[in-house]
Amino acid sequence: MPTRPQAQIRVARVAVPSPLPQLFDYRLPDDGAVVPGMRVRVPFGSSVRIGIVVDCADSASVENHRLKPIDAILDAQPVLPREALEFALWAGRYYHHPPGEVLATALPVLLRQGADAVPDQDEAFALTAAGGAVELTALARRAPRQAELLNRLRQAGGLLTADALRAIDGGRATARTLLDKGWLRLESRPAYGFVPTAEPAPPPELNPAQAAARDAVRATTGFGCHLLDGVTGSGKTEVYLELVADTVAAGRQALVLVPEIGLTPQLLQRFSRRFQVPMVAFHSGLTDRERLNAWLAARDGQAAIVIGTRSAIFTPLARPGLIVVDEEHDLSFKQQDGFRYNARDLAVARGSRLGIPVVLGSATPSLETLYNVERRGYSHLRLPQRAGGAQMPRTQILDIRGKPLYGGLSEALLARMREHLDQGGQVLAFLNRRGFAPALFCHACAWVGTCSRCDARLTLHQRERRLRRHPCGHERPPPPAGPSCRSSELRALGQGTERLEQELQARFPDHGLVRIDRDSTRRKGAMEKLLASAHSGEGRILIGTQMLAKGHHLPDVTLVAIVDADQGLFGTDFRATERLAQQIVQVAGRAGRAERPGEVVIQTHHPDHPLLHTLLRDGYAALARELLDERRQLALPPYASLALLRAEATAAEAPLAFLEEARQQAAALALPGVELLGPIPAPMERRAGRYRAHLLLQAARRPSLQQLLERWVPKLGSLKSGRRVRWSLDVDPMEML
Ligand code: ADP
Repeated sequence: MPTRPQAQIRVARVAVPSPLPQLFDYRLPDDGAVVPGMRVRVPFGSSVRIGIVVDCADSASVENHRLKPIDAILDAQPVLPREALEFALWAGRYYHHPPGEVLATALPVLLRQGADAVPDQDEAFALTAAGGAVELTALARRAPRQAELLNRLRQAGGLLTADALRAIDGGRATARTLLDKGWLRLESRPAYGFVPTAEPAPPPELNPAQAAARDAVRATTGFGCHLLDGVTGSGKTEVYLELVADTVAAGRQALVLVPEIGLTPQLLQRFSRRFQVPMVAFHSGLTDRERLNAWLAARDGQAAIVIGTRSAIFTPLARPGLIVVDEEHDLSFKQQDGFRYNARDLAVARGSRLGIPVVLGSATPSLETLYNVERRGYSHLRLPQRAGGAQMPRTQILDIRGKPLYGGLSEALLARMREHLDQGGQVLAFLNRRGFAPALFCHACAWVGTCSRCDARLTLHQRERRLRRHPCGHERPPPPAGPSCRSSELRALGQGTERLEQELQARFPDHGLVRIDRDSTRRKGAMEKLLASAHSGEGRILIGTQMLAKGHHLPDVTLVAIVDADQGLFGTDFRATERLAQQIVQVAGRAGRAERPGEVVIQTHHPDHPLLHTLLRDGYAALARELLDERRQLALPPYASLALLRAEATAAEAPLAFLEEARQQAAALALPGVELLGPIPAPMERRAGRYRAHLLLQAARRPSLQQLLERWVPKLGSLKSGRRVRWSLDVDPMEML
């Protein structure tokens, strides 16, 4: 039977939030017009979802009568401008992640839920013509507050929001008087939630290395990627500030990505003292509403500077001019679940698409970025010295083999601590393990507290009297005695930050103590409070995990103690050595950042370990060269591209069965240049009650890997064994857990 010609209909291709890899076609209403980037409400299975139009077409991929109509068009204008939309879709293709979920990541929560894309409104006071004509000197004699406010208004371009007014003493009352006089009028303004500007501070004059770095970036026309490789305290942030100033002066927007929310308050303060321009910051303290306001300010070009953590890489920008990634080596730029993108890598990709410079800054550049300096022509800008006269700290290794330890601290280290404290310095003790002790052990029967849901021991939290497994959250009270022998010889093995705190408190009872880790900063605002007490000097002894290790500028810290360097020396992940070296250098970098010289002490049972030797004798750059050479010989990233297919299930054999089928499916595609390794059980096979396994794909050339993934990933969904597992693909995995 000849097929009937289908009548011309209009179709929208929609990215619907779902784990399915494709776009979905919907019929457009006859009178409805859409363009890519608009949100639509559509029927999806038995539910209704909000998706984003990606494309419009005149014919559908399914027969017309099966085409469902769009329920509603939610926007008159695209919420996502074309560039941000296409960039997010590109990222989704690179990471082989479903477009609906990718676009959901790119949108603030409220927009995902269907809220209008308009900012809140705030009351604002605008100068009238009469107010603008007032002679201020005369007024200042009679009514100084009124003159002051008028002056502020003139400086602020004739408008102050109610929020800004609240910050001025007696501002509201004075404004009301001026309203009555007809010098001001009330207006309504979008409340974008700009970061308040602080008292401006004059910038330091850049030293020659900083100026050379700034000039190199300034000389870039269009896209260019620059590695700003400067030792801790060398003034990288000052260079960013200068480049951002250039960008703002040219009427463009700067996007600054930072790894951790903990770093934001300090950085924000520096930005707000430097710039009297509208600036927004995405941090975890924002409500959904505030986030939307800030996002709109970036999109519509109201904000000149946008600062945020990894997801800010998807922020639409009206006039992008510069992207900065601070601490580019930091693991937190990689999203570790769901849509597993790397914001550092995406920053380079977006800069290239936009034709603008990208600056990656670090004191310990990642091996990937150092490799890209060689292979992809990133410029390498070095700041070899600390700015402002501070010296690099002196570092020594403390061999603790056979030495008595008190809560993990040797006598020699305790003596160094006392000396620094006596001389008025602050002491920072770094231990990347929270809780009291990583294991509870019975000396009589060798019982060890293990997690019932993971292949792992439970961490003892003494103060709360809990045994807790961090990643899975399983917890229970510790038993009063060894469960089988009933002996009371329970001992806490090893140390965490809580034990360190207890020990240091007992030894230095007269010195204020601040502990910063995930437990002590759980409550909202706790991090800021603890950091404030570290900064004010109230806390003399600072104890922390990696949360305290990076970014913070603590000028009074003169001694940094790395309590246990052994943890990272023998890690199973091939990146363990790189991470350890970065961690040591970053923590050490907290010492002696001002006038007083700093000292770093590293406790280890392996004082002859080559990593420590190279690092201390020749520095991070030399060690990085050695590590890169090792990676080249072993054909590991950055000399190879990896993708990891993970699967997990409550049934023990299901993950391996699925991955084996998946492997065969990939092998059958017979694409050259990709090795399929595994499947094998994950390093921690059972976690949170689920069994986990991996299939690793390795290619010498990225395009070969991408070609295979493009053909293979869409087919994975059809594997029957896939229904019994949860699986996910990680392109360029950073952790092999
Ligand atoms: P980094 O970002 O590399 O850790 P910062 O930009 O935070 O370094 O600078 C470290 C300290 O040195 C800060 O207190 C900063 O104000 C100061 N500083 C930076 N550049 C200069 C300079 N050119 N002259 C004087 N002080 C400077």
